[in-house]
Amino acid sequence: MIDARDITKAFGATQVLRGVSLELAKGEVVAVIGPSGSGKSTFLRCLNHLETIDSGTIEVEGKTLVTTDASGKRSYAPEGEVRAICRKMGMVFQHFNLFPHLTVLENIIEAPMIVQKISRAEAIARTERLLAKVGLSAKRDNYPSRLSGGQKQRVAIARALAMEPDIMLFDEPTSALDPELTGEVLRTMRELADERMTMLVVTHEMGFAREVANTVVFMDQGELIESRPAQEFFADPRHERAKAFLHHML
Ligand code: ATP
Ligand code: MG
Repeated sequence: MIDARDITKAFGATQVLRGVSLELAKGEVVAVIGPSGSGKSTFLRCLNHLETIDSGTIEVEGKTLVTTDASGKRSYAPEGEVRAICRKMGMVFQHFNLFPHLTVLENIIEAPMIVQKISRAEAIARTERLLAKVGLSAKRDNYPSRLSGGQKQRVAIARALAMEPDIMLFDEPTSALDPELTGEVLRTMRELADERMTMLVVTHEMGFAREVANTVVFMDQGELIESRPAQEFFADPRHERAKAFLHHML
């Protein structure tokens, strides 16, 4: 579903990604872990073009988002194609980014109506299905300020799903939440994984990574150090830096 190769990215003099390659297969859940500042968020943001890369190749479902030729010249697909490719991916951030002046329902129906041009009635029907799925049917007409952090994040997940993505990208969806609220969000994500949604999840939740992810990817200082089946990785991390990180986290 996603094939990223040799991605490099610098912010000014800071080299943030140093040739990162990652494949995400259909129905696979990959957890990306690693210390703060290792480039996890930047990598995710490059995949759906919230950041531009300096060099490398990204293909999504066989379509080339960006590629770099032998002379080092990077080229992105035409704008319309880039937009179409990125719409295949839904993203959930650490901070939920809900519109405060819109109700839960209005937050979710907006993008499908504007972007997919479906009718309001259809968007509402879709939203009600998704709210039932994330356990928030009762909050349909509430404003975000009346929701807990965990509820807001589940609305954010429903909002991303409302665009019917083939792939979901999560960037530390629980790290802004009080510990007692992380469970409900992780449960929703686990249900998505059970339905075979293809997911790339940056997370500090080692329990989730171990139990739900098929593959764990460990990043450090802009490099992808280790990529292994989750059970194997947690049982026996190979690299010293991965060992040290796990030791610190567990
Ligand atoms: P965390 O676990 O803290 O979220 P991360 O692994 O997601 O960390 P990134 O946010 O990708 O790390 O940041 C990687 C590096 O890039 C850091 O050194 C950060 O300061 C730098 N960086 C990220 N975004 C920008 C930006 N917009 N401008 C300049 N530097 C940035
Ligand atoms: Mg981050």
